[in-house]
Amino acid sequence: MSPQILFWIPVALRLSLIWIAAAVLWYVYGPVVGLLFGLFLMTALAVVQLHFLSRLNVWLDNPQTDESPGGWGAWADIYDRLMLRQRDEEKSQTELTEWLARFRQAMSHLPIGVVITDDVMFVEWCNPAAERHLGLSAANDKGMRITNLVRNPDFIDYLILGRYEEMLSFTNRDRRLLLQVIPFENRRRIFVTYDNTEEENIAKMRRDFIANASHELRTPLTVINGFLEVAEDYPDMDVETRATHLQLMREQGERMQRLVESMLLLTSLESPDNPVMREPVQMPALVQSVYDEGSMVSKGRHTITLDTAGGPEIIYACEDEIRTAFWNLVRNAVRYTLPGGKIDLKWENTENGPRFSVKDTGIGISAEHIPRLTQRFYLVDKTRSRQERGSGLGLAIVRHALLRHRAQLHIESEPGVGSEFTAQFPKGALVP
Ligand code: ADP
Repeated sequence: MSPQILFWIPVALRLSLIWIAAAVLWYVYGPVVGLLFGLFLMTALAVVQLHFLSRLNVWLDNPQTDESPGGWGAWADIYDRLMLRQRDEEKSQTELTEWLARFRQAMSHLPIGVVITDDVMFVEWCNPAAERHLGLSAANDKGMRITNLVRNPDFIDYLILGRYEEMLSFTNRDRRLLLQVIPFENRRRIFVTYDNTEEENIAKMRRDFIANASHELRTPLTVINGFLEVAEDYPDMDVETRATHLQLMREQGERMQRLVESMLLLTSLESPDNPVMREPVQMPALVQSVYDEGSMVSKGRHTITLDTAGGPEIIYACEDEIRTAFWNLVRNAVRYTLPGGKIDLKWENTENGPRFSVKDTGIGISAEHIPRLTQRFYLVDKTRSRQERGSGLGLAIVRHALLRHRAQLHIESEPGVGSEFTAQFPKGALVP
């Protein structure tokens, strides 16, 4: 049966009952009593309906789902349906609020920045990454034009041009950013920012490395090529000059070989696919061999001492890597200490773990260079001849070899007084 008919049946029944009762009274007591009775009941019925209508009006102002306004007949049915609808609405409202909270939470963890603007580029919403990248404040900048907030000429030009199919790469607040603008919904826009600083730094490091390596290799190659040309131009060159030239060419060749070997070593130390092969290493013997080599290179020009009395006999490490690191430190001490100077090598145990130190009375290094010494190809004094200095890879190799053993390199130095390079191992190096 249709809801219309269901609604009208009880109404018709109620009205019929009233008028049947009125007709009976008319018949028994006359028309006046009958009509008055009928009118009285009709008025009472209208008042009851108006009463329920006013309660509905009050309920609609503040709809409560736990308490019904009460009523009978069609009113009970209307209230039930209204309350059911109200409950559904409250449920979807709660779900929507929870979903929005979860969405905000997820957006706040995004490493990329997201800003949503309206059709005239007024900020509607942004996440914390966008706040960091563009210097916005989600709380204070809502409703402000984005071009008034991000006053970066590249950014503004890009928005004026509006060629959003290309990304913009620009620097903002010392970070290198990539920006993508996505128009949606009738001129509204989503701004997406990526922080590209690390990638750009790595790319720059690669470029610098290639430029430095090529530069270092080009010089000995130029020397060798020069001597070869001379040999071609003067086939009758005397034996003595030829021997000198050959000797110089050999030196340059060896220099190139050392450089290439250092680069390969550094690459393998940095490679994550090359884990440290730890083995028991007899440390006093290793330090002694480095000392012997240093004394040989020094050729008696320096007073070199060795103290291994306080150091542990064995640590667990990769012997080749430790030897290379220690040797680079000793070789530098010999290289950068004037004849007559003193170099002290010490292998000891401290409360933080085993420690190897090389202390010299050499030329020293001024403070501003110290933090950069372990960068590849970093040279303090570029004016020194290539014979006097190395390639600038030695300390980078030391640092990486030590890092692989969770050891740290500390440098203390004073120009004209001397330097101390310390390799501090963790206590864990003492256990297999
Ligand atoms: P290099 O192969 O040129 O010696 P390193 O990476 O070993 O390169 O050292 C980088 C720079 O640090 C050197 O060019 C030198 O100026 C400085 N240096 C390293 N060790 C010492 C030292 N013991 N005394 C003074 N300067 C040093």
